[in-house]
Amino acid sequence: MKKQGGIDKLYVTGCLSQRYKDDLEKEIPEVDAYFGTLELPYLLVKLNADYKHELIGERITTTPQHYAYLKISEGCNRTCSFCAIPLMRGKHVSKPIEELVKEAKNLAASASKS
Ligand code: SF4
Repeated sequence: MKKQGGIDKLYVTGCLSQRYKDDLEKEIPEVDAYFGTLELPYLLVKLNADYKHELIGERITTTPQHYAYLKISEGCNRTCSFCAIPLMRGKHVSKPIEELVKEAKNLAASASKS
């Protein structure tokens, strides 16, 4: 059955889903599935899309050609009262060094092409 506006499926992802998934499922049951910030692979499976790990992290940089930023971790284990990061992004998780080296090499390769 099609949803309103001819939409077949409706998936929600991001910080709000990460933090309030259970509440959102109850309050907005029309959504077919909610995915947290680290659940991209599951979303791709739902979409019957290829999960190409090598494409994760593929980026268009806006920095000058001679440098780029690498995100080395996600989340936080602290509980500063004014901050929602731990609630939205979850516990601190470091990216594996192999993944970072690969991303850095990809960035260097794409910078040398331009
Ligand atoms: S991310 Fe938020 S909770 Fe974590 S240290 Fe920074 S301000 Fe505190």
